[in-house]
Amino acid sequence: MSQGVESQYQVLSDIKKLDERIFRLQNSLRNIPIELSKHEKELSQKRLVFEEAKAIYDKHTKRLREAEQELRVFEDKIKKAEDKLMEVKTNEAYTAATAEINNQKGEKSKLEDEMLKLMSDLDKETEKFKQSQDQFKSEEGTFGEHKQKLDAENKNLQQQLKALEDEKTGVAEKLESAAATLYSRVSSRVAGPPVVEVSQGMCTGCRIKIRPQLYNEILGFTGVKQCPSCGKILIPAPPKAAMDPASGMPTNGA
Ligand SMILES: [Zn+2]
Repeated sequence: MSQGVESQYQVLSDIKKLDERIFRLQNSLRNIPIELSKHEKELSQKRLVFEEAKAIYDKHTKRLREAEQELRVFEDKIKKAEDKLMEVKTNEAYTAATAEINNQKGEKSKLEDEMLKLMSDLDKETEKFKQSQDQFKSEEGTFGEHKQKLDAENKNLQQQLKALEDEKTGVAEKLESAAATLYSRVSSRVAGPPVVEVSQGMCTGCRIKIRPQLYNEILGFTGVKQCPSCGKILIPAPPKAAMDPASGMPTNGA
């Protein structure tokens, strides 16, 4: 019986090594969308700045075009009033027409002032708009590169994961049915790799000292046991590498 348990421990130890690599891969895989969304956030911030600058630029451009039309209307009105001035017959009519012309000229002058300010503002807004557009385009390029890199990494990790899971399926076939059932039950209940070593009487999963009797049962290969605290499957830690007395270095057969 103990021979059987010992070989089961070996299988569980192999599964543990694979599980540790699988969990590391799964962690890295989980980080990929987090990393991508960080870059997406940066991109959307740049897009927002660009869109805001563009909206201001569009508004200014539109107002300037309207003002240009208004200016033509004033010029037209002034021209008509001046033509009319030639035809007036009375002093009264002359005074009224002159007042009208002056009034239109005053309005036109106000509009011209507004247009000068608009043009000067528009210079600044165009600068801002182009700058934010460049920054957005550049961020778009950077994002594309990051995304491509992360997609490739994702694909690579998925392939590694698949290979490890296939390997694990092969190894797990060597588990006897009781151990296999226990492994699958523990896997579904605990976080992280379900098999941990017990070293110097301590569960390395939860760092709790286990009862000496249980520890001795594990070391004596009397059965596959769980940690009473974290529920993980306990296997004995491999013996520390023996020191070669001649060289003072660990011997290889540990
Ligand atoms: Zn534990």
